[in-house]
Amino acid sequence: MATRKRVAVVGTGTVGSQAAWRLVARGAEVVAYDRFAPGHDRSAAGGETRVFRSVQTDDGRYVPLVRHADALWQQLQTETGRELRRLTGCLFMGSADDPEMRTVMDVIAEHGLDHEVIDAEAMAKRFPQFRVDDGDLAVLDRRAGFIRPELTVQTAARRAAELGARLRRYTPVRKVNPVAGGGVEIRTDTDRERFDAAVVTPGPWVGDLLPDLPWQVSICRAISAWFLPGEDHRAGEERPGFIRAGAPHFYGIPSPDGLSVKLGLSQAYHRPVDDPNRLERTVAPEELETFTEIVRRHLPGLNPDPVRLGVFMEGYTDSTRPLVGPLPGCDDIILLAGFSGQGFKLSPAMGDIAADLALEGRTTQPIDFISTHGRAAA
Ligand SMILES: Cc1cc2nc3c(=O)[nH]c(=O)nc-3n(C[C@H](O)[C@H](O)[C@H](O)COP(=O)(O)OP(=O)(O)OC[C@H]3O[C@@H](n4cnc5c(N)ncnc54)[C@H](O)[C@@H]3O)c2cc1C
Repeated sequence: MATRKRVAVVGTGTVGSQAAWRLVARGAEVVAYDRFAPGHDRSAAGGETRVFRSVQTDDGRYVPLVRHADALWQQLQTETGRELRRLTGCLFMGSADDPEMRTVMDVIAEHGLDHEVIDAEAMAKRFPQFRVDDGDLAVLDRRAGFIRPELTVQTAARRAAELGARLRRYTPVRKVNPVAGGGVEIRTDTDRERFDAAVVTPGPWVGDLLPDLPWQVSICRAISAWFLPGEDHRAGEERPGFIRAGAPHFYGIPSPDGLSVKLGLSQAYHRPVDDPNRLERTVAPEELETFTEIVRRHLPGLNPDPVRLGVFMEGYTDSTRPLVGPLPGCDDIILLAGFSGQGFKLSPAMGDIAADLALEGRTTQPIDFISTHGRAAA
């Protein structure tokens, strides 16, 4: 009888909790470590909502991976009876000649994605919450909506534990060392343990844990801001998420409370984080100026003073493509990092791919474009 593979998961956050679930569901013996506890808000996850969408605006190669994730989102919901994701649609908006809008249309056409093109006149009637400019185009991605990040991480971790994974909370991993002859040793402040493989998903702590990584992952500080309707609030019945191309580039997600709307900006507006252990979680008034401008210009029904702020961190690669695969020189250490603001929707697929790589050494998923194999150092 084949022996069960022992696999460590380092970082039980967005991707690590899914990896723990997929690994243990596929027969591995799993120990999952986190410096905090699953569902915390001191890293990349948190803030109530994340966008799920079938179109990754910059690259059609993500579509098969999103499809794989989509199936696993449904599976995790069915297995646990929890609503982790709600499909309310996602509107892409912007000038019809904006290159990002053109890519969205190309990706939709190439992959036959379920969508609706809405002109400015129809937009004004159906979605009065948005102010559209002349020459604007809007495309509704129908297989889209919002994800609940805290609930998802806790649910995936709990499902992994139900299936037999051991969760080690408040246990930072200090070293992930390859062992001569195969396998990996995990060191914490109190002990060391040997595994056949390790899935390393430390999010913004990737440089802290792996200082010799040959690829650059820049850690950025991202602000989320929640707004309530103002006095002249107008909204249609539909409350899809939205992404606006152009400058300022931003996205928004109506909150599950049915009232507030969360806004976020793209990477260009994020400040760098020098040390993930010292994230500045207070927002200075001047950091809200872009949000105020967005509300005044594009979302006139909202009150421009936010009622809630959240500060998170995310790792960005230069290409914005994540790093997925073995570390150079060690096939037993599987890294998944640098999700560049896009990782939540993909996380169940990433967890499954991590399980493929850790248990079988390969995956049938089309990951060449994000793989660590043959990736130039940067
Ligand atoms: C504000 C914001 C909005 C976003 N919006 C979207 C969106 O709408 N849609 C979307 O798809 N994506 C979105 N993203 C991106 C997505 O949230 C991230 O890509 C994803 O959460 C990254 O997952 P991760 O597992 O790499 O990191 P994390 O979820 O941060 O997990 C890393 C985990 O590792 C733990 N850890 C770190 N070091 C160690 C160690 N040494 N030992 C033990 N544990 C350790 C941490 O405590 C943490 O729990 C957004 C990101 C941000 C910041």
